[in-house]
Amino acid sequence: MKFSFSNRQYFLDQLLSEEFDVLIIGGGVTGAGALLDAQSRGMKACLVEMQDFSQGTSSRSTKLIHGGLRYLKQGDLRLVAEVGKERNTLYKNAPHLTQPTEVIIPFVVGGSMGKFSAKLAMIAYEFLANVESKFKHKILRKRDVITLVPSIKKDGLLGGVIYFEYKTNDSRLVLENLKKAVSLGAIALNYTKVLGFEYTQNAISAVNVLDVLTGREIRIRTKTCVSAVGPWTDGIMQLDNAKAPNKVVLTKGVHIVLSKSVFSLENAVYFEVGDGRMVFAIPKFDNVYVGTTDTFYTADKTNPSIDLEDVNYLLNALNKNFEHANLYVKDVKGAWAGLRPLVLQEGKGEGEISRKDEIFETDSNLIAIAGGKLTGYRKMAEKVVNLVQKRLEKQFEKCSSDKIKFLGFDSRPESEFIEFALKNDLDQLSAERLYHWFGSQAYAVLDYEEVEGLPIFLGKSLSYCLENEMICNPIDFLIHRTQVAYFDFELSFFYLDAVYTFLESKGVVLDKKSTYLSYLLSLKSFKS
Ligand code: FAD
Repeated sequence: MKFSFSNRQYFLDQLLSEEFDVLIIGGGVTGAGALLDAQSRGMKACLVEMQDFSQGTSSRSTKLIHGGLRYLKQGDLRLVAEVGKERNTLYKNAPHLTQPTEVIIPFVVGGSMGKFSAKLAMIAYEFLANVESKFKHKILRKRDVITLVPSIKKDGLLGGVIYFEYKTNDSRLVLENLKKAVSLGAIALNYTKVLGFEYTQNAISAVNVLDVLTGREIRIRTKTCVSAVGPWTDGIMQLDNAKAPNKVVLTKGVHIVLSKSVFSLENAVYFEVGDGRMVFAIPKFDNVYVGTTDTFYTADKTNPSIDLEDVNYLLNALNKNFEHANLYVKDVKGAWAGLRPLVLQEGKGEGEISRKDEIFETDSNLIAIAGGKLTGYRKMAEKVVNLVQKRLEKQFEKCSSDKIKFLGFDSRPESEFIEFALKNDLDQLSAERLYHWFGSQAYAVLDYEEVEGLPIFLGKSLSYCLENEMICNPIDFLIHRTQVAYFDFELSFFYLDAVYTFLESKGVVLDKKSTYLSYLLSLKSFKS
């Protein structure tokens, strides 16, 4: 059964008629990982997501599969080892979503890092994280840093270190977990919001869900229930028990995007900003994205605002650390803001709160997981599904998610696809985009129909996503399947018409076009 809008009613009927071993609330990376883990153990699993898949935090990160260098600074050696292992696992199963990328950390006069401290930290980190020798660090002389990053400020520069991080595409990581789970028989539906629970002998036995697209309410029977709702954790726990204390605190992180034509950078840089924080500047295709900020947040969770202050903070960081940058707000061509769901630790500042995950189990059998990172999602999923398994009085397979290859995995390298795509009328950049979005599924994408008003690669992607990736409106495509709108506001306004017209012609039930335009415009209106 295709994972498409045209089969939505079929999936809703399944949710109504079956009793599930586990129902997962939340279609971010944590929920998607849990769905794949549970289904692959042989459980009957479903997932409901109130917005689009990944629309919460999991489309708004720095898009790095970290090696855990930051945890080393906090002295958490076990965590460094764990995330290092996770990174290697993901690289093995989904190489197109885990691209090793050289990152340069410059050492500057008055900065916190120097040659010896960096060397020691890197040796410890690479040992704990089991870093392959070809991905090991190198200490750089000042002139090496300048060769790699010609625009870096030379005054006060002492040298640097080059090490590896892995670039990912957070939204697509979520999607690929869901698609694999669905291919194994799981059900995952976006725009289905949990409103409440029903109980048998004080334990959750059914979940009441609103189909946001039709306004209809449905009741899903389940033996166990997992909450993987990140920033919404307290809300779900209080739906179960109005007196449940708050468990998470939110901090907001903003990223901005600049065209390489205004801020030229070919290698990723992780640099000290001067207030004790560090910021990434990461080249991606013809852009550079820069982030992040870290400030406590308590307002609207579904659409966190991008404040002018956040944008200026990042622009100032660039202007201070790169020569002739001269960047202004008008140069920002894309941006996004995300909320970190951090497990509450009284009295700690934004940057000090641990990024560890935690599981909360209630008397009514709700298992809630919060905190953590994109990087550790598979392990988080394993831990939570182990608890589900304990509660189900049935034998299931052991967790094998570390061996599951994603649908976009095959042994053909990226270069082979690029060559193939170039022979099929695509240019280099479009071919690279397709491969990084879909992996080896990109071959199939090329067989799909083009869409009037869109470049060939984007039109074919739209046709493919409509049939295989449950898009329900233009925003799902322009943000969560391709991230076009986060990286280029103007381009998303420009493409909206064509995407809307195509989806309407294929029978997708849509709101007025102006609703989607307002949403896209809201991304661009920085709050002063
Ligand atoms: P979410 O992605 O927020 O998913 C929760 C979902 O639950 C949402 O989609 C929401 O709509 C849904 N939901 C809520 N209530 C309901 C309901 N009632 N019914 C149905 N669905 C509901 N980690 C890294 O490893 N690398 C990075 O580079 C990195 N960078 C980051 C940068 C920033 C700025 C931020 C904010 C985070 C970053 N992280 C990074 C952390 C990482 O992004 C998060 O830990 C992760 O995405 C959290 O995923 P999640 O599934 O727990 O939550």
